[in-house]
Amino acid sequence: MKLLKTLTIFTSAVLTVCSASAQNYRLPGQHSQQHGDLIAAQSNHNLEVENTAKYLESLFAEEEEPEMDLYTEGWSSGFVNCYKNVDVPYSATIDVSKFSMPHPGYITSPYGYRKRFRRMHKGIDIKANTGDTIRAAFDGKIRITNYEARGYGHYVVIRHPNDLETIYGHCSKILVQPDQVVRAGDPIALAGNTGRSFGSHLHFETRYMGYAINPAAIFDFANQTTHTDTYTFTKDTYQNARNFSPEANAAYAAQYRATHKVEYSTPARTKSSAKSKGSTYVTVRSGDSLSKIAQRNGTTVANICRYNGIKSSTKIRPGQKLRVK
Ligand SMILES: [Zn+2]
Repeated sequence: MKLLKTLTIFTSAVLTVCSASAQNYRLPGQHSQQHGDLIAAQSNHNLEVENTAKYLESLFAEEEEPEMDLYTEGWSSGFVNCYKNVDVPYSATIDVSKFSMPHPGYITSPYGYRKRFRRMHKGIDIKANTGDTIRAAFDGKIRITNYEARGYGHYVVIRHPNDLETIYGHCSKILVQPDQVVRAGDPIALAGNTGRSFGSHLHFETRYMGYAINPAAIFDFANQTTHTDTYTFTKDTYQNARNFSPEANAAYAAQYRATHKVEYSTPARTKSSAKSKGSTYVTVRSGDSLSKIAQRNGTTVANICRYNGIKSSTKIRPGQKLRVK
């Protein structure tokens, strides 16, 4: 069943590749070769699909629970979503030719529905260390700079002249002011780990009149470029990635890790389970010594001393609580 679902997802990915081929590619031939290989790899048996799924899983091992949707669930949603009563066209062509990658990191969490967390991830998470420069993806004007403790942390929303908006979340520092005009590539913030985040990264969204487009429909993160000079927004397909190749993404992540000092963070799951594993406390009985307690609890006197900030010569008394694990 899982395989069947995966197969369906990839079938739609192949369809996307086909429909997108009407647009004008300006990528090197080697890139097209990758697409060809991808389609070839998917055309046959389940084994290939399984491999691809495994690739995906290993690639996004750092993935965390997606943020709430800033436009519909955030505290300041009224402020953020200014497109509530706007009639959004079925289709529109958006010029994305003058762009800058917001950050060169690899994708740690793609756009889309997360079964594990039962929610949509309306952007893409990009690996970034705290203090890394975040750049404006296109020319535009800063619409919002704000802080949301339960969600995006320090974030920036930029309005672009083509009705596209980009959002940059979990920043440690914001370098711009509302109404400031920026050029593609201008530094707008420093990456961080603020808000609902368990490790430094950039949460990046691309919106067309409020619709959260898959950033991988516009940007080719594995090749650090845009797919085409114009992006055609269509209500039916804006959630799809374009030419998405798990292999290319895995290769780019490996290359990035080899050439950058990457701060590794504790994944959210490990972090919360560390608390439930917790420490163990015992009550000292009369006649107890540190060595007796250590023996009874399968630890050492040295460990007990370290956990409780005491010396092995420290006198313990009945009724006293001691941490043993
Ligand atoms: Zn995110």
